[in-house]
Amino acid sequence: MDSFYQAYFSQWQTATERSVVIDRLLPLFCRHLSASSCGLFVKKHAEWIHFTHCSPYIQAPATPRDEELDDWLCQPLPFSRQSAEKTVLWLPLQHQGIPLGLLALSYPAGSALTDPDYLQPCILHLSAELRTYIAAGQPVGSGPVLLDMLQGLHDISFALWRAQSIDEMLFHAVDQGKKVLNIDRIAVFLLTGHNRMKGTYGTDTEGNTVKEAYFESTIPPHWFIDHPQAQHGYLAIEENTSLYHDLQEIGVGWSAYTSLWDGDKRVGWIAYDNLIHGRPMADYHPQLLKQFSFIVSQHLVRRQTEDNLNQLNGELEKRVTERTRELRQLNRQLEYTSRHDPLTQVPNRRVFDQTLPLEWRRAQRHQLPVSLLMIDVDHFKSFNDNYGHATGDRCLTLIAQTLVSVERRAGALFARYGGEEFVILLPGQNAQAAIVAAQNALDAVRSLLIPVNDQEYCSVTVSVGISCIVPDKHSTADQLFNQADSALYKAKSLGRNTFFIYED
Ligand code: GH3
Ligand code: MG
Ligand code: MG
Repeated sequence: MDSFYQAYFSQWQTATERSVVIDRLLPLFCRHLSASSCGLFVKKHAEWIHFTHCSPYIQAPATPRDEELDDWLCQPLPFSRQSAEKTVLWLPLQHQGIPLGLLALSYPAGSALTDPDYLQPCILHLSAELRTYIAAGQPVGSGPVLLDMLQGLHDISFALWRAQSIDEMLFHAVDQGKKVLNIDRIAVFLLTGHNRMKGTYGTDTEGNTVKEAYFESTIPPHWFIDHPQAQHGYLAIEENTSLYHDLQEIGVGWSAYTSLWDGDKRVGWIAYDNLIHGRPMADYHPQLLKQFSFIVSQHLVRRQTEDNLNQLNGELEKRVTERTRELRQLNRQLEYTSRHDPLTQVPNRRVFDQTLPLEWRRAQRHQLPVSLLMIDVDHFKSFNDNYGHATGDRCLTLIAQTLVSVERRAGALFARYGGEEFVILLPGQNAQAAIVAAQNALDAVRSLLIPVNDQEYCSVTVSVGISCIVPDKHSTADQLFNQADSALYKAKSLGRNTFFIYED
């Protein structure tokens, strides 16, 4: 018996938690008191709970009916019940008159403990501890507590779903997880590849939820990570183990780990411990922690996928915007190129060909005159022959840039028609206005100084053919053009450097 008490109290001295002690006491009864099996029955919320959650290997005596236990609970002294095969010694556990439960020791028939009174100090002590354990709010067994926890898990899931970012989500997982699951400390770690991990949110030594993104390390050679069973839904629990913060050992208690999965790929894990209050792990915890970790995994993966998709969408949108801008720019360039003469940068024949019929119809509708000036550089072939084609190009450019500003009236169009020929279309302008424009054009070109080499300049002249028509239903735009052309021919034949206005 002395060795029993020695062993009994040494358990109390070395263990950190009551549940662990209770767990260890049961085999002690079997070993030292020669019982073949034993069990602890605790009454909670009018319900009987077979309190052997930490000792699945202890076979309890056949469980009596609840009403029978109710009767026995109020027994003041140990009593025994006998059957053909065994004798069960029932020891009521009471504290200050409050019945708490029953300890049952089962013996083969005829070999019961001779002096149960010897156990009285142990029973008193155990009752007191059990009372404190229950009073500490540690739930014994499942029932309504489990329902609360399931509701809590649902609340967490909802909070994770509503979180605006992964960061906020992991904060809620840690912060609410502790409250709902009744766990002292929770921390979530994510794997970053190449055997490295990083912290997200964790719990400091005072129990506050803290950001641990600063924490980054290679994965320590930890038993949990390499555990062969560490697959989906696996919960690793270590009792009476060293507890860590930032890889520093800071206490002793139980710790547990669950993995976070993306399909078959482990993406992180959640660590739990009881550093702060030293509460034992409850019987509902293993299942809840697995569920909790499953919920966090699901939300994490969903959110990561969403974030990746959003990022891709964002990049795609940015690229589309960039491409659209480039395309608009290209279109503008194309539009300019298609409407301008590449040598002189003035509007080209295409613009003239598009504008002439439009202006012709407008003049027809409003019965207004349209004038056209056809301008041709005189003896340009000789100019090219004398000074070279490149100088000829420069000369044409200078003439064009001079003539483009000769006529500034609204609707007037100056264009290079081709070769050394230009046109000025004057919608709404009569012959008088066209003559003024022709004279201005002749003067402007005459007074140009064309550089032909480093020191030398020369001048050129143009001839202008003018046509002016108030369109009626018989006349056409071609007529306007042909008349200007023949007037130009006439101007040339008159000696060039002059204009001629077409007359019927
Ligand atoms: P006219 O007074 O009768 O108009 O005589 P011309 O020499 O100007 O007439 P012709 O039609 O015989 O010659 C026109 C010349 O204009 C021939 C051609 O080489 C030149 N020319 C046409 N387009 C260009 C061009 O883009 N650049 C250069 N440098 N010369 C051009
Ligand atoms: Mg010509
Ligand atoms: Mg010419």
